[in-house]
This record gives sequence, C-alpha cells and structure tokens, in this order.
Amino acid sequence: MTVAAECEVVVVGAGPVGIFSVFACGQLGMRCQVIDALSQIGGQCTALYPEKPIYDIPGFPSIEAADLIVRLEQQAAPFAPRYHLNQQAIGLRRNGARMLVETSAGVHLAAQAVILAAGVGAFGPNRPPLEGIESLEGRSVFYWITQRERFRGKTIAIAGGGDSAIDWALALNEIAAGVTLVHRRNRFRAAPASVAKLDELVAAGRIRIKTPFQLAELHQVNGGLEAITIADLDGRTERIPAQVLLPFFGLASDLTLLKGFGVELKANQVLVDALTMETAQPGVFAVGDVAGYAGKQKLILSGFVEATTAARSAFDLAFPGQAFQFQHSTHRGAPRLVV
Ligand SMILES: Cc1cc2nc3c(=O)[nH]c(=O)nc-3n(C[C@H](O)[C@H](O)[C@H](O)COP(=O)(O)OP(=O)(O)OC[C@H]3O[C@@H](n4cnc5c(N)ncnc54)[C@H](O)[C@@H]3O)c2cc1C
Repeated sequence: MTVAAECEVVVVGAGPVGIFSVFACGQLGMRCQVIDALSQIGGQCTALYPEKPIYDIPGFPSIEAADLIVRLEQQAAPFAPRYHLNQQAIGLRRNGARMLVETSAGVHLAAQAVILAAGVGAFGPNRPPLEGIESLEGRSVFYWITQRERFRGKTIAIAGGGDSAIDWALALNEIAAGVTLVHRRNRFRAAPASVAKLDELVAAGRIRIKTPFQLAELHQVNGGLEAITIADLDGRTERIPAQVLLPFFGLASDLTLLKGFGVELKANQVLVDALTMETAQPGVFAVGDVAGYAGKQKLILSGFVEATTAARSAFDLAFPGQAFQFQHSTHRGAPRLVV
C-alpha cells in the first residue's frame, strides 16, 4: 500500500468549491490533497459550461466559468495543494485519528479530516458498450483530447453528433491520415458555422461521414485498434479502418462512490449539520452541491461559505487542543503555507 505524503485535509472533488476549500484550509494552516476523476480541475464549470458567463460571483459583474477556475486555482496555489487527477476517491479507512482515503489508482492519502466537494458526482465519459473497449482506453480509445499532436498521421473514427465530435473532426482533419465521423442520426447538433465547415470538408473529400450508424465492434491487432464495425438500424454493417476511436457521447456522473465513505445519500445529497458542515461520519465534511441541509441553495457562492465553515471545523481535528484565533485575511497577510 502506497501512502502519499501526509496532509491535514483530503478534498474529494476539484470543482470550484473543492478548490476554494484548499484556500480556506490553507488560511488556517492546513495542507490539502485533492482528488478528481477528471483530467482537469474545475468540476461543472470546466466540464459543462467553460465559456458561459457567471453573473453572481461577488466582485465579478461577469466572469466566464473557465476563468473563475483559473482564478480560484491561483488563489489556492500559495498553499501548494497536490491534485490527484484521473482517479476516483473510492473509500475511507480509519487508523486512530488518521483517515486514509483510497483512490481508484491504488493511492492512499492520509489526513485528519476529509472534505467531500463531490458536486453531482465523479465525472466520467459515457462509454459505448463495446467489448474490449477498456483495454484500448488511453492507447487507441480517447474520450477527451489533451494533445492533438498525438493523432498526427493516424486514421481516426469519431463517434457523436455534438460540438465536441464536429470540432475535433475539423481540427484533426488537418493532421490525420483520415477522419470518419459516425453518428446515429442524419443531423448534427452542433454550431451552424461548424456544421457548414464540415459540409465543405466532406464535399472536398477530406472527411467521411457515416450516418445513421452506430458503433458495433472493435477490431484489434497487437493490442491496438485496427478497425471498427459500424451498423445501421437495419443491421447492415460496414468495417472501416481506424487506429484511433474518439467516442464523444458526453459525461456521466456517479455519486454512488461516496458510499465508500460511509455517508448516506438522500436525493443526491449528503446531509450535514450546517453549523459545522460535518456529515454523520465524524471528521468527514461535505460542501458545495453535494451538501444538503434545510434552506440549501446550490450556488457556487453558498459553496464558498460552506468551505470556510468546513475548514474551521477541520482545524480542531488537525490541531487538537490548539485555540482557534479568528483573523481577517488582511491581518493574516499574503496567503502562504505555514507548516
Ligand atoms: C450550465 C450551468 C450553469 C450554471 N450557472 C451557475 C451560475 O450562474 N451561478 C452559480 O452559482 N452556479 C451555477 N451553476 C452551478 C454550479 O456550477 C455548481 O453549483 C458548482 O459547480 C458546484 O461546485 P462543486 O465544487 O460543489 O461541484 P462540481 O462543480 O460538480 O465539482 C465536483 C467535482 O468532484 C469530482 N468528484 C465527485 N466525486 C468524486 C469521486 N468520488 N472521486 C473523484 N472525483 C470526484 C467530479 O468529477 C467533479 O469534478 C451552473 C451549473 C450549470 C450546469
């Protein structure tokens, strides 16, 4: 069992409220490690609506969701949080006053308190139900793209009919050996300008479109993808060459993982005592969208307040016997890690 570096608080979820929890804990002298199932921080703001303006963040008459995350990350940075991305927090074990949070990557994080900032649940891709797909993930099958260059010179099949599928078909067409777009409907649900550009490239023979078709089978050679079979509604099949498959079917979210923390979910929320944000599990707090109490408003602003309350509660566990002294940030001085 690998136990990653010790910290005072493990935060489950790197959405806006999870990131602000790092700041709130840091201000009270607590170091945090943060776990998120996605490959990037930001939760719903980054995954669902990065370019939408938010109008109800104090001090910002308007701020794009992705920009808010950049600023929250900067605000938390002086407290040197360690982000464990691409892994799910799956359970909690107790060892005296210490808690061990286990991730799906086999990492164990030790802390005195846990803050669940799990939002609507661990985000993950909607996987097409294809035999053998798991073994190709990260090598030939990708649900999001972080490095376009990785796909230079490859034959690529993209599945889906929304903005991600079309935008990546347009972008990868410039560097790929071939791009085929597979969609189960004849019409695409993407920005009209993108669909018009797609039509142009299809007419020029640069992108192939296969509609109405669904993914039916994967064909592997030497542990990599070689081709896929697609099928229409009448069961007519076609085999098309593909070294890479990019299924863009949106995100799913999973809250059931929190059962591993011994907390009870009611209407997709974990009930807390709003005075402390503590759940029914001692030392485990919940903040943000996942936290439920009378009068709860699912707003980023409410989550920020809850994070400061949870941090105050966690202080007593991190530093038992130490008197808590309230200070404004102006008196505390520029944020810095005090260990
Ligand atoms: C389109 C849209 C517009 C919105 N507009 C506004 C607005 O104008 N103002 C406003 O205040 N709010 C708005 N919201 C709501 C706001 O985005 C949420 O309230 C906010 O994102 C909640 O933050 P959070 O950190 O609690 O959770 P989330 O943002 O949901 O982040 C939770 C993170 O936890 C991760 N996670 C969960 N469980 C696990 C696990 N077991 N292991 C690993 N990772 C896990 C998830 O992958 C996710 O990244 C909007 C929401 C949407 C969808």
